[in-house]
Amino acid sequence: MHLLVVEDDQRLRRLLKRLLEEDHHVVEVAADGATAVELATGTSGIDALILDIGLPDVSGLEVARRIRATGADVSILMLTARDTVGDRVRGLDAGADDYLVKPFAFEELSARLRALSRRGAAGARRAEPKLIAGSIELDETARRVTVGGDPIDLSPREFALLECLLRHAGQTLSRDQLLDQAWPFSVSVTPNAVDAYVHYLRTKLGSASGQLETVRGIGYRLAHG
Ligand code: CA
Repeated sequence: MHLLVVEDDQRLRRLLKRLLEEDHHVVEVAADGATAVELATGTSGIDALILDIGLPDVSGLEVARRIRATGADVSILMLTARDTVGDRVRGLDAGADDYLVKPFAFEELSARLRALSRRGAAGARRAEPKLIAGSIELDETARRVTVGGDPIDLSPREFALLECLLRHAGQTLSRDQLLDQAWPFSVSVTPNAVDAYVHYLRTKLGSASGQLETVRGIGYRLAHG
């Protein structure tokens, strides 16, 4: 998933970014509410926010409200230091989809994100934590990919690219759409980078490489197989 971590505590922000990237997510960070709203509501390709309630400028609750007011199609997982019924209700009322109390185990955050990706905007309410097209299977729980049952080893970027293509299997995605979904904003790349990574990905997909089709002049499409 393309995630945005909104947390003013630099240590926690860096830790979350690192751990989430190890889980093959593409991760953006913001240290204040205004930046978060800006990043989450543009045509940014962000799937979900991990949003701390305690921020230096506006509260996470206000951030959630502002994002919901724009109608942006992102999931929001709220973080808070306190666990009171009132806080939880306020978070959910403000537009959060789920709620996690600090301190939390990273495994729990991972599990909540998987649940969000299954039922949220990004996941179109799938019951199975697997994205499948032909012989290609991406297990969102184990964060691994198999082709014909055999595991293949993908770099984080290749994994993100394949995840995006699988989510939209059968649809043509432009290079710009793929860049938005699979590359962090901070990395400056040209659309040609997409071509290079599609090439790497095809090589690794082996017998399934033919499913990753080039749509001339537009971009790429992953055939259902
Ligand atoms: Ca904070």
